[in-house]
Amino acid sequence: MSAVSIALPNGYELAPVMVLPRSFPSTAVGGPLDLITNRTTPREQCQKTFGMAGILGTWGVLVNVPCGQWSCASCGAKKARRYAAVARGGCELVTERLRLVTVTMPREDPRESWRLLGLRFGRFSERLARRLGRRLTYFGTVELQRRGNPHLHLLTRDSGYLAKASLAAACTGSGFGFVDIRQIAAGAGVQYVTKYLHKSAGQEMPKGVRRIRRSRDWFTESPTIKGTWGEGWQWQSVEGLDPDAVEADMRAQGVLEVFRYDQRVDVAASD
Ligand SMILES: [Zn+2]
Repeated sequence: MSAVSIALPNGYELAPVMVLPRSFPSTAVGGPLDLITNRTTPREQCQKTFGMAGILGTWGVLVNVPCGQWSCASCGAKKARRYAAVARGGCELVTERLRLVTVTMPREDPRESWRLLGLRFGRFSERLARRLGRRLTYFGTVELQRRGNPHLHLLTRDSGYLAKASLAAACTGSGFGFVDIRQIAAGAGVQYVTKYLHKSAGQEMPKGVRRIRRSRDWFTESPTIKGTWGEGWQWQSVEGLDPDAVEADMRAQGVLEVFRYDQRVDVAASD
């Protein structure tokens, strides 16, 4: 197969952002359409969508790769829906009790709160694990308070007895402000946390902040097909180009079938 040259602007190269298989599995796949998980039609378009074109023999693919960021109104909303499903899935696994833990920051400069959030949370879960004799099973999300500080909202499931006093001690001992814990019904917990997930969508938070925190045993999502780059497919960025013109170019190069996709937000970026 010869190299295909699509009209690319200067300076554009293959971008390592797409997740596609390097070859077709021999079974259960009829064509490239089946290799991209959960094809979607855009409802509201991500403004920072990145364009990629790939060619394998007589097949061509044009892919919109959304930015996948929480701060994007479109992608943030999709991520919120995805994580709401994760929160719900974990709540449904409850056998003993489900509790909602709200952790606040001490009175301090919000920048300090954000900077220390991860460190404090690590200490907090260590302390709780020691007290409980096991690790906490949790799903949590960060809420941006009006005064600029974060709050943490955690759902915990079946983690044994936690006295309020010892929870409070773990909280202040880790550098947090105060903590609230209450037992809740599964449905109520999901509503509470998804409220903050949806509120978070489209909001700017300091760079590098993890908005979702969950223990590995909270809930296992159905696996997405994850492929790798390379062999066979030839990819080029078509950022900023008219997709119709790119498709016409591909056909002129001998590509017989051109498929168009929108890549799933959760494949494009992580938590
Ligand atoms: Zn986006």
